[in-house]
Amino acid sequence: MEFEPTEEVKEPPRIHRLDESVVNRIAAGEVIQRPVSAVKELVENSLDASSTSISVAVKDGGLKLIQVSDDGHGIRYEDLPILCERHTTSKLSKYEDLQSIKSMGFRGEALASMTYVGHVTVTTITRGQLHGYRVSYRDGVMEHEPKACAAVKGTQIVIENLFYNMIARRKTLQNSTDDYTKIVDLLSRFAIHHIDVSFSCRKHGAARADVHSVATPSRLNSIKSVYGLSVAQNLIKIEAADNDPSSSVFEMDGFISNSNYVAKKTTMVLFINDRLVECTALKRAIEVVYAATLPKASKPFIYMSIILPPEHVDVNVHPTKREVSLLNQEVIVEKIQSVVESMLRNSNESRTFQEQAVEASPSVPPVTSNDLDVSPLPS
Ligand code: ADP
Ligand code: MG
Repeated sequence: MEFEPTEEVKEPPRIHRLDESVVNRIAAGEVIQRPVSAVKELVENSLDASSTSISVAVKDGGLKLIQVSDDGHGIRYEDLPILCERHTTSKLSKYEDLQSIKSMGFRGEALASMTYVGHVTVTTITRGQLHGYRVSYRDGVMEHEPKACAAVKGTQIVIENLFYNMIARRKTLQNSTDDYTKIVDLLSRFAIHHIDVSFSCRKHGAARADVHSVATPSRLNSIKSVYGLSVAQNLIKIEAADNDPSSSVFEMDGFISNSNYVAKKTTMVLFINDRLVECTALKRAIEVVYAATLPKASKPFIYMSIILPPEHVDVNVHPTKREVSLLNQEVIVEKIQSVVESMLRNSNESRTFQEQAVEASPSVPPVTSNDLDVSPLPS
């Protein structure tokens, strides 16, 4: 078959400016990729508001309803009109502030985005007020004047019908159990890092919470209550630090699983400067050590908190802030990898030694390696 070359030269299409509502909805789809991204933004807002208790309720994997309630400082009445406009924030004033920002949020986009792809209702009360206010938003603006209402301390934000106006997105998210699992996983991660805050997460109307943590001074206790005893009793405490400006400056502390822990998938809970992030390079580096050191080929459980000077972390590299970029990342990864390796070898050797000792003298009570660097867990 032969194609005849087209004689006709195509006219360039006209360029026009997109409607602001289209721009906003497209941008919103990027910030709120799925229900769990909305929950993450809301919980981070609650943390930024100095809450000590945060509870999440979810219907239909978040597509029908997401409700996040906190006991934080609340939102001023005067700010309610611009609360859900794009680029309105209380956390950042000038670009340079990004260098030293401590809050999770700074883009002023999360709430706005939610109003472009869902129906948002805010109930909030600030300290010393006799009553709170409730107001609903659509496409960045209030649907009506805030109404006075009874309220306890803090803020409750409800999102209904997420992605009601994004048919393709809704279709791909129909499997609602999937996102509920992701939400439970997210809250579990927050809970074991922010141990001074109590978290709960449940399906709307359910009596039992699927995540339930109470504030505790012990990280290990928190891991036990969230991930269970089988995880908590098989952890080794790990620490590393460097303070050499020519190579790297960081402090790391956390827990990694020992050789008794068995899992098919890696769980890596990583916070960098208190931000929940992912770092594939670090995860791979640790997995390599586990594969090479442990005979059972189990995948690890890792909780790690890394603190760096704020000016060494670029927090503005991802629309959902899922990743950050670090100065001297390679050096830091290598250093942490070698500390993991030596901790693991030590724990492995003492375990082999203990097992031999147990075999040799059956009268000795069995020894497990959970006494390695792990403070005892209350029963
Ligand atoms: P950002 O967190 O980047 O500032 P958001 O759209 O998430 O942007 O929130 C906008 C503003 O609304 C925040 O800066 C904060 O002042 C206020 N806010 C949002 N959620 C809460 C909350 N749960 N408690 C108190 N203030 C809140
Ligand atoms: Mg925010």
